[in-house]
Amino acid sequence: MSQARKLYVKSFGCQMNVYDSRRMADTLAPHGYVETGTPDDADLIILNTCHIREKAAEKVYSELGRVRRLKDAAADDGRRVVVAVAGCVAQAEGEEIIRRAPSVDLVFGPQSYHRLPALLARAAREGRAVDTEFPADDKFEHLASPSAAAIRARGACAFVTVQEGCDKFCTFCVVPYTRGSEISRPVQSVVGEIELLADAGVREVTLIGQNVNAYHGAGPDGRAWSLARLLGEVARVNGIERLRYTTSHPHDMEDDLIAAHRDLPKLMPQLHLPVQSGSDRVLAAMNRRHTRTDYLNVVRRLREACPTLALTSDFIVGFPGESENDFAETLSLVAEVGFSGAFSFKYSPRPGTPGAEMTDQVDEAVKSERLQRLQNAIDDGQATFNRNCLGRTLDVLFERPGRHEGQLVGRSPYLQPVQATAPASLIGEIAAVIITEIASNSLFGALTRAPQTAARQYGPVSTGA
Ligand code: SF4
Repeated sequence: MSQARKLYVKSFGCQMNVYDSRRMADTLAPHGYVETGTPDDADLIILNTCHIREKAAEKVYSELGRVRRLKDAAADDGRRVVVAVAGCVAQAEGEEIIRRAPSVDLVFGPQSYHRLPALLARAAREGRAVDTEFPADDKFEHLASPSAAAIRARGACAFVTVQEGCDKFCTFCVVPYTRGSEISRPVQSVVGEIELLADAGVREVTLIGQNVNAYHGAGPDGRAWSLARLLGEVARVNGIERLRYTTSHPHDMEDDLIAAHRDLPKLMPQLHLPVQSGSDRVLAAMNRRHTRTDYLNVVRRLREACPTLALTSDFIVGFPGESENDFAETLSLVAEVGFSGAFSFKYSPRPGTPGAEMTDQVDEAVKSERLQRLQNAIDDGQATFNRNCLGRTLDVLFERPGRHEGQLVGRSPYLQPVQATAPASLIGEIAAVIITEIASNSLFGALTRAPQTAARQYGPVSTGA
């Protein structure tokens, strides 16, 4: 093995980027790279970028300005620092990144991570390397597995990518252009990775994908398996106690997936199901392929399957053409569903998407005012949901020490952070906690002797506005 070199990966954006960053580190570990928590002493700096938020590319260029200063300072000390840009901005900008930021040695898109060692060698040989192809080979088959030590260092909860890309083409979204069309990993590849994680102490797995419930990976029988069937298989892995999946599209909530919320005790009673708007007119302009009624029907069926289910969502406010009436429909949908939380953003055009070409853009001040009203409604729903947990006993998977000595922090089945006084030996374990206090973003509680049971047996937690 070559001499150890230090690797610093900075992840922007979604959980899939965090997962990708880890797999890059795993792939580079056999080549002598060890991760460091700071860019200051790194030999290789990778910015794993996200294109979802406004001005994403500009933010990457300003970050690259800071990285260039580090690289120059290292060069003054006779040390070479390699700078790489990965992720969706790399995919979208390609060569342009090296033209605008000459300190960058390597640009590579999300489908090229498994070729990272070869790309670094090429960049060293040729001075620069750019790889933003959508290759036909399956990168997951070529990515190195994490070591048991690396898995343990990352804790008891893990994300596992099972699906990438999207064929939906919502008119506001860049994902179909930066991540390409839908690809699903084979069932055995996913299950093999999760067995490895479970052996090293992982207790909770979240299956992730840009449109995860469109999963259709090849099963061991050679047929395409649905996400529900994959979840059933993963639930059989010894040591895995909790399952989640994200992010789902309402159009792809098939019957078997809804039934899995009734039939799989390990599937946590929490689901992120983006709706974006409550107005059919706006949903059609967004090319969402579902109506308000479709969404509400899916919610009703999910709650019939799992009465304790807590729902979170995503909203875009001020999409081109959104009227005050359309926005009122969004507010009424929030009231009707009773979300336990949601992300909401003002619409901002992404270059290259149909939404950016629409002529009836909404005034910024109107968007800001609507966003404030929406966030107030969402916050009220979340506060009500959390208040209704007071006095209840929830299973908590403890993840790490809390801020105060003797305290641990974990997650409830509903993904709420929960703090409790507990021995460090409970890190990585699930324990029953009675909730005694509610703060704005977390719950506080005390260990109880209550036997550990499936979360849904605690009875419904209503958001009832
Ligand atoms: S379904 Fe999601 S990822 Fe796909 S285009 Fe729509 S918003 Fe983007």
